[in-house]
Amino acid sequence: MEHYDSIVIGKGLVGAATAKHLSTDRSVALIGPDEPVDYHRASVFASHYDEARVQRVLGKDEAWTRLNRDAALSYPLLEQQSGISFHHPVGCLYVNPYGKDEYLNQQPSLSARLGLSAQQFPNAHTLHHHFPHFHFPLDSVGIYETAPAGYIHPRKLIDAQTKLLHKNKGVTIFETITEIEKVNELFVVQTQEGNRYTSQQVVVAAGSFINHHQLLPQKLQLVTKSEVVLLVELSKEEALSLCGLPSLLYEINTPQLDGIYLIQPVLYPNGNYYLKIGANVPEDLYFERLEDIQHWFREADSAPFAERLLNALHELMPTLPLRSYQTKKCIISRTPHGRPYIGETQVQGWFVAGGCNGYSAMCSEAIGSVTAHVMRNGSFPEGYKGHDFELLFQNE
Ligand SMILES: Cc1cc2nc3c(=O)[nH]c(=O)nc-3n(C[C@H](O)[C@H](O)[C@H](O)COP(=O)(O)OP(=O)(O)OC[C@H]3O[C@@H](n4cnc5c(N)ncnc54)[C@H](O)[C@@H]3O)c2cc1C
Repeated sequence: MEHYDSIVIGKGLVGAATAKHLSTDRSVALIGPDEPVDYHRASVFASHYDEARVQRVLGKDEAWTRLNRDAALSYPLLEQQSGISFHHPVGCLYVNPYGKDEYLNQQPSLSARLGLSAQQFPNAHTLHHHFPHFHFPLDSVGIYETAPAGYIHPRKLIDAQTKLLHKNKGVTIFETITEIEKVNELFVVQTQEGNRYTSQQVVVAAGSFINHHQLLPQKLQLVTKSEVVLLVELSKEEALSLCGLPSLLYEINTPQLDGIYLIQPVLYPNGNYYLKIGANVPEDLYFERLEDIQHWFREADSAPFAERLLNALHELMPTLPLRSYQTKKCIISRTPHGRPYIGETQVQGWFVAGGCNGYSAMCSEAIGSVTAHVMRNGSFPEGYKGHDFELLFQNE
């Protein structure tokens, strides 16, 4: 049985970052399957199977903002050391069409405390003047963050993290964990493929699958739901003409949809450029059972969601050609406090890093760094408060 100082479960954004940070002073195995080619053969999936994720710095509160800021500050070195480019600092625009909200109200003090800045846009006229591709309703207000805000490429970010993990002699094992047990002070990790690995410490970073299989001593409080995005295909010329378009977080809330995010056209592996828009919809599915998540990824039909996303996109960008499009299915999970889970369970040496809340791609590098610090030192790094990331278990 192979033995490691630390085993990280889940080769997603958070797991890859955590493993890399741990690997600087110990032996580490990052265990989790790669993105499946055939969804019918996979038993678990992920939230990162895509080419772009919004990057902002000013988050919903200080904890998120610290994570975003620390992640973004690390990107230049991470790109340089790995030789992999994943960060596109095209800026990020946040708009609320109904006027000022809590997020906008707290930004001046949050920015001042953390040494950040954002440009305020007090009405739809100034927004349209600066961002002529977007059309917002009259009462809209917003803020714009310049670089390092923009978007990141999640698959390439994982490649960069694992490349550095391997440089540090860490290993990746492409297997799915079915059970973790603590036996005589050692963790024994059992895989679906029939192998067992042992370690001194284990950290579960299995994203929306954290409560499935036997990965934890006690299940966490987590709401897991479906998510659908629309990819609108554009020609290369059309895509390049939008290369200055910032990422958009648009706080619309109607009976049809809520909370739009949009990313400029990006080149996908099939050689086409797609602009992405996504939102919550009332028909989103809430999952309790692994079989229901598997059914969602394998067979559910997301095409019926296309029309309302197309309509929303047309209102936002009336001149954008909507000739060809497709929908894609995804999954997210939310914690009761709305922040990631980072910490140790009631079993010494058994840690958790996860609970994405829809915003953890942009700060996964920092979640990994904080998690590794907690596992190493038993305390949070300066500036971070453990309470913010408290693990909340079911039946507590
Ligand atoms: C449509 C969509 C749009 C989003 N947009 C944004 C955005 O713009 N900006 C942003 O910051 N965030 C965004 N997010 C959220 C972001 O993608 C997630 O927060 C992020 O992927 C979470 O990283 P993670 O490592 O916790 O989970 P994941 O990326 O889901 O990775 C979890 C990993 O665990 C593995 N795993 C699961 N179970 C097991 C097991 N039993 N054994 C071994 N491995 C296992 C999986 O294979 C997977 O690789 C979006 C999410 C979705 C779905």
